[in-house]
Amino acid sequence: MPDPAPIIVWFRTDLRLADNPALTAAAQASADTGAAVIPLYILEEETGGTAGTSPAGTSTWPLGGAQRWWLHGSLERLGTCCARHGSPLLLRRGEPGAVLDALIAETGAGCVLWNRRYTPAGTARDAAIKQGLKARGIDARSFNAALLAEPWTVRNKSGGSFKVFTPFWRHVSSTLNPPLPTRAPATLKAPQTAPAGDRLADWGLLPTRPDWAAGLRRRWVPGETAALSHLAEFLDGPVGAYATERDRPDRAGTSALSPYLAFGEIGPRQIWHAARHAADARPELAAGIEAFLREVGWREFQYHLLHHAPDLPDRPLDSRFTGFAWRDDPAGLRAWQRGRTGYPIVDAGMRQLWETGWMHNRVRMIVASFLIKDLLLPWQEGERWFWDTLVDADLAQNAGNWQWVAGCGADAAPFFRVFNPVLQGEKFDPAGDYVRRYVPELGRLPARWIHQPWAAPAEVLRQAGVRLGDSYPRPILDHGAARERALALYKELKEGV
Ligand code: FAD
Repeated sequence: MPDPAPIIVWFRTDLRLADNPALTAAAQASADTGAAVIPLYILEEETGGTAGTSPAGTSTWPLGGAQRWWLHGSLERLGTCCARHGSPLLLRRGEPGAVLDALIAETGAGCVLWNRRYTPAGTARDAAIKQGLKARGIDARSFNAALLAEPWTVRNKSGGSFKVFTPFWRHVSSTLNPPLPTRAPATLKAPQTAPAGDRLADWGLLPTRPDWAAGLRRRWVPGETAALSHLAEFLDGPVGAYATERDRPDRAGTSALSPYLAFGEIGPRQIWHAARHAADARPELAAGIEAFLREVGWREFQYHLLHHAPDLPDRPLDSRFTGFAWRDDPAGLRAWQRGRTGYPIVDAGMRQLWETGWMHNRVRMIVASFLIKDLLLPWQEGERWFWDTLVDADLAQNAGNWQWVAGCGADAAPFFRVFNPVLQGEKFDPAGDYVRRYVPELGRLPARWIHQPWAAPAEVLRQAGVRLGDSYPRPILDHGAARERALALYKELKEGV
């Protein structure tokens, strides 16, 4: 009897073994029939794996630098886990349809399983691949590993999509009954002859000249094991104060799960069930857990929006903003990117991003408001910079949140709400510890002046060793005047002048 045809499990943004429905289905079929399982990851050359190309073709989203670093670590760990379970992870590179065809021809595989992705380009590509495989008699099936509720399953009362978060989440959370997460399969049967694959090191995902990833290495350990321990530690206590602490960048009050979610090293069903379990066991945590799950709900909402508006990464949802008179200011953009605007909370955020590949959500809102409303630069500029520098860059989350701050998105903060970087700093980083950590040249300034060093008496600056315009920049603009300028432009837009 010849061996039954092997099953290919095509990993993409689901880089985990537990609660991975495609892998579970493959392991089950393998147990039933004796078929081998070939775990496969394809580095997609056109779009770079997790990224997508906007259907309008206006911009492409190849994997950013920080995510290339993360992907390397994630694949390294997934490879170790697959090998330990019995069947090594196969790495190939190229156009995925062609890679799959070649592998099927080589191995005689009769089945390809994967978990769905939700970017416009990814969805279109997967649909075409599935159709092609089925037409040739290959069993091609896809599953949901990444969302609590897939966008097309959520409809409002009139059968349309949701545009406002609160009714969306009320609807989703009240109807939700996610299946219990599955465990990693006990074993994976390897094919008798292992197909030849690439070496991860040859993919050049890690930066070399220069190696700018030291801060990322210090801050993060990619992979499924680290994701699960982050979740457990967070639910073990910090989550209780989440509702208030989540806005404090000077404290570790949030879960830091976003990059793990972006790469699918953990899935929202695992988070949902673990959080519910924790709330049942420790009722004093329940309010924090509710607030935490609501944020996970925002992640779902952004995918809902992207599904119904595939142009979200490129075009404002509110089409009035298409004609907004943005400025062109390369020097301003560069000062923002490098964390040299002279506004300490903005600079601390941008340097945290550069150093660690992540930025606290409150500070993301402050720096985004500064770029869009103080500098009057298009939100897409910020979106692109975040895309390249964030380890958690995610097409739906990034686009939806930038549009939210810009006031042109769904259920967005109105444009006229301009964050004051001094007041925001004083409110959410009251002792200045966050600024001191990322802007060390202000480290000796007292809390009273740390969010507005230009207002400090000369003697205070001298004692703190701060030389404005030399050791730390003077503000590149006056926030009050910039705010007035932005509001005047917004008024013109509203009145259709
Ligand atoms: P927690 O507070 O612990 O929240 C738990 C999870 O809920 C997060 O991991 C995330 O998946 C989800 N979540 C939390 N806040 C939001 C939110 N505002 N919108 C959607 N989901 C949320 N998040 C990304 O994952 N990728 C991005 O590319 C991204 N770009 C952003 C750009 C801007 C301008 C802004 C303002 C926010 C952006 N966010 C993005 C959302 C948010 O800042 C991060 O998800 C959050 O800071 C991650 O930290 P955490 O895991 O500790 O979050």
